[in-house]
Amino acid sequence: MAKCVALVVAAGRGRRFGGDVPKQYLDLAGRPVLRHSLAAYATNPQVDAVRTVIHGDDRQLFDAAAAGLGVLDPVPGGNSRQDSVRLGLESLAPLAPDIVLIHDGARPFIDAGTIGRVIAALERHPGAIPAVPVADTLKREGDGGLIDGTVDRAGLWRAQTPQGFRFGEILAAHRAVVGEELTDDAAVLERAGGSVALVLGDEGNVKITTTADLERARRAFDGPGEFRTGNGYDVHRFTTGSGLWLCGVQVPHDAALEGHSDADVALHAATDALLGAIAAGDIGRHFPPSDPRWKGAASHQFLTHAARLVSGLGGRVVHLDVTIVCERPKVGPHRAAMQARMAELLALRQDRISVKATTTERLGFTGRGEGIAAQATATVWLPR
Ligand code: MG
Repeated sequence: MAKCVALVVAAGRGRRFGGDVPKQYLDLAGRPVLRHSLAAYATNPQVDAVRTVIHGDDRQLFDAAAAGLGVLDPVPGGNSRQDSVRLGLESLAPLAPDIVLIHDGARPFIDAGTIGRVIAALERHPGAIPAVPVADTLKREGDGGLIDGTVDRAGLWRAQTPQGFRFGEILAAHRAVVGEELTDDAAVLERAGGSVALVLGDEGNVKITTTADLERARRAFDGPGEFRTGNGYDVHRFTTGSGLWLCGVQVPHDAALEGHSDADVALHAATDALLGAIAAGDIGRHFPPSDPRWKGAASHQFLTHAARLVSGLGGRVVHLDVTIVCERPKVGPHRAAMQARMAELLALRQDRISVKATTTERLGFTGRGEGIAAQATATVWLPR
């Protein structure tokens, strides 16, 4: 099979949006727009590697957006989209891919069917792009806002991405047109005399350009579906030792928590909350304490397992709220790290993860310092 690399272009500043954060990093259904695009390629079995071209100022935003996807390090873009693509292609030359799929980072709805049709067409042509036929009647504007004529729409298509090319040919073509301004990468290959095939794109594969596009995309993402809520509760007792795990973070303490796994009581409650939201039983059913595999196990894998069950249903985690109940250790100094860790595990923005702490006024087992309790509430969106 041909070695196929995706080149995702995300170096733009998105000036039409105003605001500080470029559009490709704005939130769409709990994740940056760019993460949706990257994930589509990172999880596609026909794609071997994913490289992103970013603006030099956006490295932190990119790292957050790409966390855990296993994509290549990004490279800095140039002064125009065309420059950025060329620099991205140059950076891929050492990998010697057979084909490259050049994709707009702001097209988060790209589907595997479209990607597959582009790749298939590259067996017969040096270039192929997805496009959809123009459905609206086209008017040419004349003086004073009056119509000057009706344009025949027959044979007219709207170009989308990914635009796929045989790697050596598109790199050479880009090198040859430095300084010229062409509209897309297909035009670059056309200029070099290469033939570019049209394959059917997808009406849903929209590019997010304006704030209205983003609002529409957010609504499209939620589609027909429903929100579910689940809760989880767990208790672990203190034992001798030093330090314990809470929310996937190691917390120094003069005692440890007893348990078959790493005894991360907060992640266990969070896992049960997710399982509860999809009515998938409890953590003990998925990870029986009788199974030696889970002895000393890091509990983050329980949480990510539950999150994968949610995405397996076509759903997504929207929000997670965890409350830790104990007199000691103090949670406050670790709260930000806990939030960040769970956000990383669930690939969610931190403002969708809440970590709270309370005592029980020295009452009961937590008040006597015999153990820690945790409860969690998860909100999950599921398609209908
Ligand atoms: Mg437990």
